[in-house]
Amino acid sequence: MYADLHMHTTFSDGTFSPEEMAQAAQRHQLACVALTDHDTIAGCARMEAECTRLGIEFVNATELTAEMDGVEVHILGYFIDPANPKFLENLIKFQHARQQRIHEMAARLQAQGIPLQAEAVFAIARCESPGRPHVARALVQAGLCTSMDEAFDRFLKKHRPAWVPKFKISAFEAIGLIHHAGGVSVIAHPALNKSDEIIPSLVEAGIDGIECFHTRHSTAASQHYLMMAEQYGLAITGGSDCHGMNKGRPLMGSIKLPVIHVRQLEARARAIREKALAAT
Ligand code: AMP
Ligand code: FE
Ligand code: FE
Ligand code: ZN
Repeated sequence: MYADLHMHTTFSDGTFSPEEMAQAAQRHQLACVALTDHDTIAGCARMEAECTRLGIEFVNATELTAEMDGVEVHILGYFIDPANPKFLENLIKFQHARQQRIHEMAARLQAQGIPLQAEAVFAIARCESPGRPHVARALVQAGLCTSMDEAFDRFLKKHRPAWVPKFKISAFEAIGLIHHAGGVSVIAHPALNKSDEIIPSLVEAGIDGIECFHTRHSTAASQHYLMMAEQYGLAITGGSDCHGMNKGRPLMGSIKLPVIHVRQLEARARAIREKALAAT
């Protein structure tokens, strides 16, 4: 019995619909999946419905963009109450910032003589949480770049002319919001963010788990973070970070996390909710 706790659909920067993602999970014989679209939970209800139809356990989740001591860190929130008003309000703030960023990126491209309108990006994204991959797709579709890689390399990567920093909240705030919505917070792909030096501060801030297994983690990196999980008493998670076809091929199936870890995460979520209830 295996799980994959990290994936993105068309509700953020993935290319599969929630139904297609659930069907891919079934093909990979996964027993449990979590949808972690960037800064939104809008796709969760549809994916849950399809997972239920297919007999797959579904976990409501999201991936928030945060920072600690100037280091960018992505924080996954699992077992989120999808009706929590404060959590939803904050997601809307993130989404507005992402939409504003698309306008800024289009303006910067235009300043470079690249005639891309923000509206062309929104027409492709058709979601509340647009990001750079949508800008890249729009550039390719308009014939202004020959590939997504070219779009990133010439314009969208950090230090390139159309790069605009992403809106981030503090990791303290992100962890607090996730807990407030009854969820558990997890450091996403720590090997990718070079976030080792901030892990002790994240633990101090109440982080609950660490994504030890990720498509882009080497075996050595996974071992390293498993030891950190042990050292700091953190839950262990893992996920493919599948973005559909956005990263060339669907990554689902690259990570098979034993379901026992989902049960341990769920137990932590229950403890957080019981503690909140006891405090009221
Ligand atoms: P954003 O959240 O808007 O900053 O965009 C980040 C997303 O862009 C991540 O999902 C990356 O994997 C994706 N990305 C980065 N470089 C490329 C590339 N060359 N081709 C496609 N996607 C990319
Ligand atoms: Fe993404
Ligand atoms: Fe991430
Ligand atoms: Zn992700």
